[in-house]
Amino acid sequence: MTDIIDGNEVAAEVRAGLADGIETLKAEGTTPGLATVLMSDDPASETYVSMKQRDCEEVGINGIHVEIDAGASAEKLFDTIDDLNADEDVHGILVQMPVPKHVDKRRVLRAIKPVKDVDGFHPENVGRMVAGNALYKPCTPHGIQKLLEAYDVETEGAEAVVVGRSDIVGKPMTNLLIQKAPMGNATTTVCHSRTQDLEGHLREADIVVAAAGVPELVTGDMLKEGSTVIDVGINRVDADTEKGYELVGDVEFESAKEVAGKITPVPGGVGPMTRAMLLYNTVKAAGIQSDVTVNLP
Ligand code: NAD
Repeated sequence: MTDIIDGNEVAAEVRAGLADGIETLKAEGTTPGLATVLMSDDPASETYVSMKQRDCEEVGINGIHVEIDAGASAEKLFDTIDDLNADEDVHGILVQMPVPKHVDKRRVLRAIKPVKDVDGFHPENVGRMVAGNALYKPCTPHGIQKLLEAYDVETEGAEAVVVGRSDIVGKPMTNLLIQKAPMGNATTTVCHSRTQDLEGHLREADIVVAAAGVPELVTGDMLKEGSTVIDVGINRVDADTEKGYELVGDVEFESAKEVAGKITPVPGGVGPMTRAMLLYNTVKAAGIQSDVTVNLP
């Protein structure tokens, strides 16, 4: 029997586990605060940001939302980030990506104070993570580690294949899996758009993390029997539904679940974990900035 990994359930456990830390902080006079900044007209970005705000409200984090006209100057965004950096009630800052083309994305990542960078994308935080001393682990790969842990997937000594080398998923996932640390110690291969024999690599993998953004790229016949398959992909494909599309992952679920031992669905797998780990990082950030020791799940 294949285990379907329930991301909603594990995310709910993470959120419940944060309650204690939030209570401790509030008793010490600090309400964790997360600022989201949206400089985009993209409906998907708007949805992501509003979900993050709703998540904050649910667990008792103070959500602050700033919207900047997509046509405004880059300086307007940098001034906003400066203000949020200086605001003592704001412990985490998240600028929703992508920002408009006239804004230098790398400068945005550098502008956020590292201690408030709850996405973990500031170069200082990336460096710390690579060195095995992460302040904030990036939300998606951290959430995947939590899923693997919750479902007793042994990473130590396992052959892991990460499909995708993006800065937000593939690279940090690879880094976390190779760390000499819990939920690390995996022998990890990174496949990407120039990989010659994806299938050959996948067939050897005990753990597959698919983050290519290609609908149903990974099919059951490419997988090793009993492997653990984590599908990060969220792809809109045309479908005969009310909305005119449906969401599919980077893994062909139906064929993969016949071969895999454990597999995440889309939706309901990695997505909820990404959201939960943002709350986790925000609570951690509030603890650090108010000098209060908080227990994290
Ligand atoms: P990206 O487009 O930045 O990177 C995709 C990577 O996949 C690239 O490194 C590329 O080299 C590789 N790739 C592309 N085609 C490939 C192929 N045929 N074979 C092997 N590798 C290939 O994407 P991203 O930001 O890392 O996101 C990947 C997917 O995950 C997207 O569908 C995105 O929507 C989704 N995503 C989901 C969450 C979540 O919380 N569930 C979070 C972030 C991203």
